[in-house]
Amino acid sequence: MEQNHFSGYPNATPALHAAVQRKIALRITGAAAWFAFWVISCTLWGRDNQYMSPLNWTILGILIGLLAWKLFKLGVMLRDKPFEGIITSMKVKYVWHSDTPWTRGGMKKEPLVTATIDIGGEVPIKFKFPVKDIYPKDYYAVGDRVRHYRCLPYLEKEHKPEDVVICVACGKYSYIADEKCEFCKKMLLK
Ligand SMILES: [Zn+2]
Repeated sequence: MEQNHFSGYPNATPALHAAVQRKIALRITGAAAWFAFWVISCTLWGRDNQYMSPLNWTILGILIGLLAWKLFKLGVMLRDKPFEGIITSMKVKYVWHSDTPWTRGGMKKEPLVTATIDIGGEVPIKFKFPVKDIYPKDYYAVGDRVRHYRCLPYLEKEHKPEDVVICVACGKYSYIADEKCEFCKKMLLK
């Protein structure tokens, strides 16, 4: 039987919602620790260092500390808002990607999907996600009504297929009869 409705996240799946909240809290804590570390270290270092005045050392610490905004993707995370709309186009582009970018050998070209989503009246949203199991034309299609939730990298489809569902956390297929994703063990939205 097809499931022609959205899941009711976050209320219907509090465990997944809690995991997302933990991820957000961890990022903020990490960024705050990074910021404090650099401001305190530079300030202490600058107390008896001849190269710059103590104030300049503190300012340097603040500037390095502010890199946390980018490093921990706070800006991206805080701008990320839930939305619902209809896919009006999908483009697949091959981009260089590696799970371990510090080892050059691991770089390979992988497909990245840009879905344009009409959220009604306003400027359409361009939503990007890497392809895992999905072949975009197999699972998502132009005309599908989809929902995005904060910090979940894949879209939930309103009309789900009979057999499988995409995990919104990791992008892999699971059987729709399952409660949890086979790969990342997070709750499936269905
Ligand atoms: Zn998963």
